[in-house]
Amino acid sequence: MSEISLGIIGGGQLGSMLAIAAKKLNIKTVIFCDDIDAPAQNFCDQFINGNYYDKEKISEFINHVDVVTYEFENIPFETLNEINKVKPVFPKPSVNRLIQHRIAEKDFINKLNIRTTRYVSIEKKTDIDALEDFLPGILKTTTLGYDGKGQYPINSIKDFNSLNIDFSKGYILEKLVKLKQEISVVITRFGNNKYEIYEPIENIHEDQILKHSRIPANINDKIFTQSKEWAMHIAEELKYIGTLCVEYFIDRNDNLYVNEIAPRVHNSGHLTINAFNISQFENHVRAVCNLNQIPLKKISNAKMINLLGAQILNYRNSTKLKANEFFFDYLKKEIKEKRKMGHITILL
Ligand code: ADP
Ligand code: MG
Repeated sequence: MSEISLGIIGGGQLGSMLAIAAKKLNIKTVIFCDDIDAPAQNFCDQFINGNYYDKEKISEFINHVDVVTYEFENIPFETLNEINKVKPVFPKPSVNRLIQHRIAEKDFINKLNIRTTRYVSIEKKTDIDALEDFLPGILKTTTLGYDGKGQYPINSIKDFNSLNIDFSKGYILEKLVKLKQEISVVITRFGNNKYEIYEPIENIHEDQILKHSRIPANINDKIFTQSKEWAMHIAEELKYIGTLCVEYFIDRNDNLYVNEIAPRVHNSGHLTINAFNISQFENHVRAVCNLNQIPLKKISNAKMINLLGAQILNYRNSTKLKANEFFFDYLKKEIKEKRKMGHITILL
């Protein structure tokens, strides 16, 4: 069998975990990242540092790989599209373009008759006439947001008027859902109606950043089934290849809403590394490299805890881990407040 070389754009912790999964499958990885300190260079076979618009560097990358995927959604569409003319990119660049824009993403989900939060596009500061209906709400940049970045809580028109932000960028105002719980469904699509789907994962956020994830999620049967069905419907409609994650809200009346889609492996799915026979990362590599599909088997219930900022220091060089605890250090050079530095998975 000839060796496959997988190109991964983005060199953060998701890129690292994809590279680790690929290695296990005897697949070579080449990571392209604009950050010279990208942690994933510690785990891949080859690392190329360059700007995502740098045509020369991108063509060097293309020459070294057979197939390309990406670990985060904010990659310029033109770059993915250019690569895709020469080597296959999965998921398709058009999927990425759709999902990186919060309004296009929500319009798409609603067209499938799947519920999202109520939302309105805000293009300029004077667009406040019809806002009352969407308050209290959260104003978000339509593109480039993550871990709660670019989000502003808006309780009143007064809050809105006193915002000092650049409206040339494009925003979405979302009605605040009175949250009872948040869950996510991670799914890998291999082709027409061919899936591996993980059970819903329950997520706890603090300051809009994921703090804990656990299985089983404490949800009723209807939500259990509906969240999986909606994830399948979305993946099928996108003709998606690889792993994707659907983030959901559950309100106090047990209504389910799609919050957002991540066209990639997801933080809430880290527990799949230890809790299932095949992780979300391995499934992604298997799907994009066209390898065979292996039926998922759950090994254990589990809880994952994100280690933010200096919390990582308590675990580095620690010998205190129990046999059911698994520590991952993302090997990021710099500790920053609220930065995801590593995680612990505990099998329950
Ligand atoms: P990000 O791209 O940063 O993950 P999200 O839209 O998922 O952005 O928001 C992050 C978190 O903020 C959510 O998981 C949720 O806890 C909270 N949040 C965001 N939008 C809403 C909303 N409309 N109603 C209630 N909570 C929200
Ligand atoms: Mg989110």
